[in-house]
Amino acid sequence: MDKLLARNLGVPRRVIGRVIRRGAVETLDGRAMKDPRMPVDVGERVRVRGEELVLREHAHLMLHKPHGVVTARADGRHPTAYALLEGAPLFAELRAVGRLDLDAVGLLLWTTDGQLVHALTHPRRAVPRTYHVALAAPFEAPPRDDDGAVALELRDGLRPRVVALGALDEAAAHPALLTPPGTEALATVTLLDGAYHEVKRIFAALGSHVLCLARVRHGPVELPRTLEAGAWQLLDAL
Ligand code: URA
Repeated sequence: MDKLLARNLGVPRRVIGRVIRRGAVETLDGRAMKDPRMPVDVGERVRVRGEELVLREHAHLMLHKPHGVVTARADGRHPTAYALLEGAPLFAELRAVGRLDLDAVGLLLWTTDGQLVHALTHPRRAVPRTYHVALAAPFEAPPRDDDGAVALELRDGLRPRVVALGALDEAAAHPALLTPPGTEALATVTLLDGAYHEVKRIFAALGSHVLCLARVRHGPVELPRTLEAGAWQLLDAL
């Protein structure tokens, strides 16, 4: 129990040992659990100083990343997306699943499971990511191949795997995400990999300029319209 509890609360194991021995951890029906080495199951619920806690092996969550925070755990210049997760289960072990630029907003997944980070970000896994984009000028739609995919050769050898790229119905756009002034065009793009500034470079290559970029889907997860900027929500699985 001490190992799992220390991880879940983000405190050293020797500290948690003392807390347990003092009787601060109880079963939900109020029996003290005073032995730090007592076996417990992942998913078990305990009460620590009166607060109910689920003992998790891993935590996965989605953050609605606001504008102006960096996708990093620490940064000398800007506020971090990580700081917004304080209080989340297994906070000390959470890692971002990919990155969003400082000025991009929307869905940013986090997990404590390193294998999941790899599975959801490695280009070979081709996990789709969908973005809503507000553009300074309408873009020239490129031709599609038989599968409906678009092959774009960008400068510096980048050839993104774009599976969908088209105008975005204003009604379908996420209202909390796409509100730049003077928008002339909205677009949606779904990519199967995620190179540096990929969406911005795609629209630059198509003769436009991204004013506002919002990720609305990453693999199996869609950003709910109800999740406000800066807020996060736990996910059962990823
Ligand atoms: N593409 C970009 O240009 N920026 C992001 O943050 C994500 C994808």
